[in-house]
Parts: sequence; C-alpha cells; structure tokens
Amino acid sequence: MSCGARPLKKSEVRRKGSRALGRLAAVFDASKNWQNRTAIPVWLHPEQAEKARVDLGALRETVLFGLPPLGVAIAFVEDRAVAQVRVHFDPGGGNWSYVGRDAQTFSMLEPTMNLANVDQRTVLHEFCHMLGMLHEQSHPDRPFEFNEEVVIDEMRAAYGWDEGKTRVNILDKSPQADATAFDEDSIMLYAIPERWTVGDYEVRPDELGSALSSGDVAQLQRWYPGGRADGNDPGAKADDRGGEREQLPMHPREKPVPPDAVLWYVSVGVLGALTLGLLVTSVFARRRAV
Ligand SMILES: [Zn+2]
Repeated sequence: MSCGARPLKKSEVRRKGSRALGRLAAVFDASKNWQNRTAIPVWLHPEQAEKARVDLGALRETVLFGLPPLGVAIAFVEDRAVAQVRVHFDPGGGNWSYVGRDAQTFSMLEPTMNLANVDQRTVLHEFCHMLGMLHEQSHPDRPFEFNEEVVIDEMRAAYGWDEGKTRVNILDKSPQADATAFDEDSIMLYAIPERWTVGDYEVRPDELGSALSSGDVAQLQRWYPGGRADGNDPGAKADDRGGEREQLPMHPREKPVPPDAVLWYVSVGVLGALTLGLLVTSVFARRRAV
C-alpha cells in the first residue's frame, strides 16, 4: 500500500517563489512542476517490463486515459537517451517516484520511478507524483493527528523504512505545499489505520479509489491548464481521440546530462566500434541501451 515519493537531498532542492494559491484540494509542490504546454518524455524499461510480465500497452492506456486533459502531455518514447522520466519495473523495488522535475537531476542510467505493481491506483498515484503531487496525508491542515511512534514502528517492521523515510512519506506536513482543502478522496492519500491516529480517524483500504478525485483533477488542471479533451498523448492518432492531434514541443532539459551518462556513451561507443569494426553513431549506441 505504501509508495515512497522520493525527495531530493536538501542541497539538491531548487526553490522557486510560490504562486498565488487558489482554493483547491490535493497537495502539490509548486517548485517542481513541469513547464506547461510541453510534452514530458517518459521511457518504460522494456526488458524489465517483459521480465515482470507488464503489459506496456495497457500501462500506457492507464496513464493516458486515467489522467485528465492537461496542458502538459505524457510522451512515451522508446529511446532512453531522450527520456526525462525513466520507469523501471523491479518487483522488489517498491512503488516510488521522484516528484516533478526532480527527475531531471539524475542520469539516464537511473530510474526516476519504479512500479512493483501496475494496478491502476498505483500507476496513477506514481504518475501524479511525477507531475508534482505530494501525499495527501502531508496536507498542512489534515483533520487528524498521527500517533507517530506507532506509524514509525509499523513501517520499520513492514517495509524496513527508517524513521526519516516514514516522516518524509507519511508524518511530515509539507510546508511547500499548494493546498487548501484536505481531500479524503485523493488518489494521493494512503490508507490510514485507526491505530495510526490519535482519536478514531481512519481511512480504510476499501475506501481508496483507483481514479483521481475531482480535487486531484482540479489541482492538476490548475497547474497544467489548457489541456484538450483529445488526451495527453501527443503521439495518439487523431481518430483515437476524435479530434485533431496536438503536437507539443518536448520539455526542455534544464540541467546538463550528468557525467556518468557521458561515460556510458563513450564506453558503449568504443565497445561497439571494437566489436563491429564500424563507426558507431551515437544514435546507434543509444539503441543498444541495456
Ligand atoms: Zn506516494
């Protein structure tokens, strides 16, 4: 049931001024949002998907139809080198995602999201993290208090989480959040057993939905306005969506590619040239991605 929204180290966090806040449900970290009217290139690890028996076609449908029309598009790409979000499918790796543009901080060799489960709720929850959303339980005005010691002990026993990870993912309130009304229907809310709270507040697992709440939708559309009803996929055929397909430019890569990615290019290039005796182009090298 638990997913880790991975925060950056404090030294890595880039802060921006907060924008005017509206009255909306859901919690959003405004400092990490993607540039609107662009397409976010997302790569799904094909070999890991095959090994984990993940149906990538179904997964893409879940994302594209599960998210509301937004001003940003999700562009599934086959070339890891151009991706800015890289999804792995390590069954033992848990479900987690970096939040928003934090994904740009990592080299192309590293995952920015892992899906150990590909049920609709998990997939949409992690993609909402990727778009900048935080856990609803981190809401500054949540209507309950955690029994912190119980939560920390249980997460340590169940998932091996240390206290810090439990605080970041469950207990801490988010001071950066753009949020007003607490939204019990948010897809970003964990199940909360009664024993975790002071008093009798609880959110039972069977109360959790597998779709975005109206508050989730309103929040995402506020941050990414201008979406069209014909979907989020710039590569979708017009007749799939009943309208003209829209082409959005790829999201700019705002950070330089980290050094190990450069080394990866060089090593793959040299190995390829030695093996084949051919000049290996960088495009060819990219397609040899492990
Ligand atoms: Zn999460």
